[in-house]
Amino acid sequence: MIDAYIALGSNLGDSRSLLSSALAAMDQLPATRLVDRSPTYRSRAVGPGTQRDYLNLVARLETGLTASELLAQLQSIEANHGRERSEHWGPRTLDLDILLYGNATISTDELTVPHPRMAERNFVLYPLSDLAADLVLPCGTPLQRWRGTCSNAGLEALGDSIEPGR
Ligand code: AMP
Repeated sequence: MIDAYIALGSNLGDSRSLLSSALAAMDQLPATRLVDRSPTYRSRAVGPGTQRDYLNLVARLETGLTASELLAQLQSIEANHGRERSEHWGPRTLDLDILLYGNATISTDELTVPHPRMAERNFVLYPLSDLAADLVLPCGTPLQRWRGTCSNAGLEALGDSIEPGR
């Protein structure tokens, strides 16, 4: 079994219930269990025009799926939650990114792990650090070093956790 960390984000629709349903859907994937989830954060949207703030959290899964199988499963959860891929950086009902897959470094056409932009994203580093403060990245860098140099501008800890639901 591999520990995988998944970033969840939503800024369209009923974000709380979408995230709750996505957590439950990940727990129901084949050979996969939702082990833990971070508290919830609100972050300012990056991208075109004026967009609603995002709700973000990070989930820890234990999985027997390969990284490529996991990506396919997460994309089908996104699709089941109304994700449309029309506009790059546009608003989204549900975005699921694989941050880490065990200690693997992966670089294929479809998948880059660790997620290439995680080092500069406070809405990823802060919740990930809540879940796994002592984590060391595959490159050998302690997570806390990245978090320590990443401003929390535009990020608000909401102080609650979203329950997995239907
Ligand atoms: P996005 O629109 O930001 O969700 O990007 C989705 C695309 O990123 C998909 O086509 C994936 O194949 C690709 N991708 C590359 N690395 C990752 C990753 N670590 N997690 C999720 N998607 C990834």
